[in-house]
Amino acid sequence: MTSRLAIVTGSTSGIGLGIARRLAHEGYAIVLNGLAEPDEVARLRAEIAAESGMPVEFDGADMTDPAAIAAMVARAEAQFGQVDVLVNNAGIQFVSPVEDFPVERWDRIIAINLNAAFHAIRAALPGMKARRFGRIVNIASAHALIASPYKSAYVAAKHGIAGLTKTVALEAAEFGVTVNAIAPGYVLTPLVEKQIPDTAKARGITEEEVVRTVLLAAQPTKRFVAIEEVAALAAFLAGDEAGSITGAIIPIDGGWTAQ
Ligand code: NAD
Repeated sequence: MTSRLAIVTGSTSGIGLGIARRLAHEGYAIVLNGLAEPDEVARLRAEIAAESGMPVEFDGADMTDPAAIAAMVARAEAQFGQVDVLVNNAGIQFVSPVEDFPVERWDRIIAINLNAAFHAIRAALPGMKARRFGRIVNIASAHALIASPYKSAYVAAKHGIAGLTKTVALEAAEFGVTVNAIAPGYVLTPLVEKQIPDTAKARGITEEEVVRTVLLAAQPTKRFVAIEEVAALAAFLAGDEAGSITGAIIPIDGGWTAQ
């Protein structure tokens, strides 16, 4: 098999970086993406390429820019001949009561956490359908299935991702293209670390109480989901054996949404 190409959006940090590393180790050529300093990008590219022996490119497309997202997919197709796997992972969070939610924060979360996946899918799907193979993995959240207070934009975007996932899965089903969403519970990444102080402020409790009584209280396993666990699920969904899994929203949340 010639090596497959995977684009992972938001892969300069956290879950996306873990998925990119895992896919590279499994023999995929990788296009990294994210907002990161050139030095950091160079370091990550060199590190993953050295560990895996696979080509690792970077595209700095801003996920708020539809034209840049389409250009990222077009460049990958021109360079590698195909995009086999698209992981829509880039995401941001903001925590505030809805009546105080800054309008520009709402717009930015919907743009990055929902609209960017639409733009990337719209650009990548024609090539996947033509080649009769493709894997689209959207990184949703437990918040694609249930809500928490003070996260209106994030929960709305993630529920939107669930709907987009199911719809495109139906449209692509006869073309060898699967579309699924992974719905992680809490994973200790910079995204979660940053929201701890805001949640403490919104709820009037200490940061330690946020971790114990808000974050991990929801997760029956009482531990954060590991980045590597999410990456392993993404890699499985990307592979040939997952060909009959499509339109699924798959929780990996330590039992959170079972309650
Ligand atoms: P993170 O903050 O560690 O990483 C986010 C990535 O997105 C970074 O690479 C960042 O550069 C990139 N990004 C942000 N804005 C961008 C933009 N405008 N254009 C391009 N890239 C941009 O976050 P994470 O926790 O790894 O989150 C990754 C995904 O997982 C998100 O969609 C998030 O909603 C989802 N998720 C996270 C958790 C969790 O507990 N950490 C749980 C469920 C779902």
